[in-house]
Amino acid sequence: MINGSCLCGQCRYKASGNLFDVMYCHCSNCQKITGSAFAIYGGVSQDDFEWLCDLSKVREFHSSQYVCRYFCNSCGSMISAIDKKEKNTVYLSIGLLDSDTAIVPEYHQYVSSKAEWYKIIDNLPQYMAESPV
Ligand SMILES: [Zn+2]
Ligand SMILES: [Zn+2]
Repeated sequence: MINGSCLCGQCRYKASGNLFDVMYCHCSNCQKITGSAFAIYGGVSQDDFEWLCDLSKVREFHSSQYVCRYFCNSCGSMISAIDKKEKNTVYLSIGLLDSDTAIVPEYHQYVSSKAEWYKIIDNLPQYMAESPV
């Protein structure tokens, strides 16, 4: 079981099954949203995902035509994102996981917009735009 919560704790969720598609995203939207060089996400199946809080505490923001991001309306943690092109997947912000889930990053995406000052030092595959999944 995967469990996650925001910084203040009012937003919580659980997901069964395993994380897949664990990736670093270097796109400019993820840089803005995290205030950092990149975001890291892992996917779970939409059917396996369940909010454990009042949905009125979760705020939505459409950061592009296809991507909707979900935030805590109190502390601002970005909890998850959904890409309308991959409707069956919920991408979880890995830093918010509370359970002892094994995290195995698989690749970097949107490396074409990577922060100039950040150097990738692992040997994972690097995709200039979206991963070719
Ligand atoms: Zn919060
Ligand atoms: Zn991104």
